[in-house]
Amino acid sequence: MAGNILLIVNEANHLRILAQVLQDAKYTISVARRAIEGIDTARTLKPALIITELNLGNMNARELTTTLRTTPDFAQTPIITIVATSNTREREMCIAAGINGFLDDPLNEQAIPLQIQFFLSGGRDTIEDQGRIDQAKEQLLQDVVKRLESRLRELEETNATLERLDEMKDTFIQLAAHELRTPLTLITGYSRLLEDHPPLKRLMQNDNEISSLIQGLSKSIGRMQTIIEDILTVSRIMTKKMELNASAFNLGLLVKRVLNTYSEAFRERRLRLQFNEAEFPVALRGDEGLLQQMFANLISNAIKYTPDGGTIFIQAETNNNIVRFSVRDTGIGIDPSMHEKIFQRMQIGGAINAHTTSKTTFLGGGLGLGLAICRGIIEAHGGKIWVESRAYDPVTCPGSEFIVVIPIVSSPTTQPLTRIKRLPVREN
Ligand code: ADP
Repeated sequence: MAGNILLIVNEANHLRILAQVLQDAKYTISVARRAIEGIDTARTLKPALIITELNLGNMNARELTTTLRTTPDFAQTPIITIVATSNTREREMCIAAGINGFLDDPLNEQAIPLQIQFFLSGGRDTIEDQGRIDQAKEQLLQDVVKRLESRLRELEETNATLERLDEMKDTFIQLAAHELRTPLTLITGYSRLLEDHPPLKRLMQNDNEISSLIQGLSKSIGRMQTIIEDILTVSRIMTKKMELNASAFNLGLLVKRVLNTYSEAFRERRLRLQFNEAEFPVALRGDEGLLQQMFANLISNAIKYTPDGGTIFIQAETNNNIVRFSVRDTGIGIDPSMHEKIFQRMQIGGAINAHTTSKTTFLGGGLGLGLAICRGIIEAHGGKIWVESRAYDPVTCPGSEFIVVIPIVSSPTTQPLTRIKRLPVREN
C-alpha cells in the first residue's frame, strides 16, 4: 500500500479521474464531499496527503488548510488543491495559506502519479516573488475578517428568524390550548349534568359497568383540563407574561387542601404521610392558585414515583422571612445528571410502573411540564426550587427531595412581588 490519500472533492469529474488514477497507482483513498466532513475525516484518518477542491461550498481550500494547520497533527501533511495554471492570484493566496502545491485544472491523468509522489516526498510548489506572497497573506487576513463578518450577519439573521418562529410557535400553542378550553368547559358541564341526571344516577347505582364508564369519562375530562391548563401556564411562564395575583394566605391550609385531593391515592397505595401543618407560615403573600398548582405537581410526582407503602414527607421551616419547604419521597430517585434537566419543558424520564395506582390517575405519563411550571411559579415569587437525590434506582429507591425557598412577603408595599405583564389572551 502506497499511502492513504483523502480526497475532499465535490466535482464528479474530478472525483472520477482522481479515484481511477490513484487506485491504479495502489493508493488507498477516502472521500469527503464537503469541507466539514473532510476536516472530520482527516482528523480521524490522519491521511498521508490531502487533495482538495479550490471551492467547497461554504469553505474554500485556503480556509480548510488554515483550520487543519492549527493542530500539530497536520503541520506537515501535504495539502494540495486543484486549480487552473492561469489562476496566478489564487495560487499565491493558496501558498500564503500553507497549501503545499497544486494539481492543474483540468486534471492531467498522466501527470498525477508523479505529482503525488513529489508532494508525498516533501516537495512543494513555490512562488519566486516573496513580495507577492506577503501581499497575498495580507489579502488572506482581510478575506477571513470579511467572511467572518458576513457569517456573523448570517447567524444574526438566522437567529432572528428562529426567535420569530419560536414566538409564533408559543403563540400558536397558547391559542390552540385556549381554543380547546372553551369546548372542554362545555363538555365538563354536560358530563356533570349527566352524572346528576336522576334516572342515570339510579342506573349508575344499579349497574357497575355504567357507573365505571361515567366515572372514566369524568376522570379523562379532568385529565384533559389539567393538560390544557398546564400548557397555558407553561407558555405564559416561557413568554414571561404571567401575572401574579397576590394575596396573603395560610400555606399550611393550602397544602392540606392539595393533600385532600390525593387522599384516595394515598389510601389505595398505602402511602404514609408526614406533614405538620404548624410548620408552615400562616400568612404568606403570593399567588395562592399558582402555589397550589405547584404543590399539586410536587405531591402528585411524589405519589407517582414512589412504590406502594412508601412515605411522603412535607416539611417547612421559616428563618428571617424566608420559608424553606420540601416534598420528600421514598421513591425511585433521580440521577444527578437529570437534576437540572427535569426542570426544563418536555423532560420525561424514570419508571412509572413501580406502583399499582390506576392507569388513568398516575400511569398516564405526563408531558414533562409539571416541574417547568413549578420553577416558573417559584421564580415569579422571587424564590428558588431544586431537587436533591442520590441516584435513580427503582430497586433500592433512594428517594428524592424537592426543595423550595421563597421570601415571606408580609405586604406588597414592603417588598413587591415580581410583576410580569399579562399576555393578551382572549377570555371566554
Ligand atoms: P410530568 O408532568 O410529565 O410528570 P414533570 O416535569 O413533573 O413531568 O417531571 C419530569 C420528570 O422528572 C419525570 O418524568 C420524572 O422522570 C422526574 N421526576 C419528577 N418528580 C420525581 C420524583 N418525585 N421522583 C422521581 N422522579 C421524578
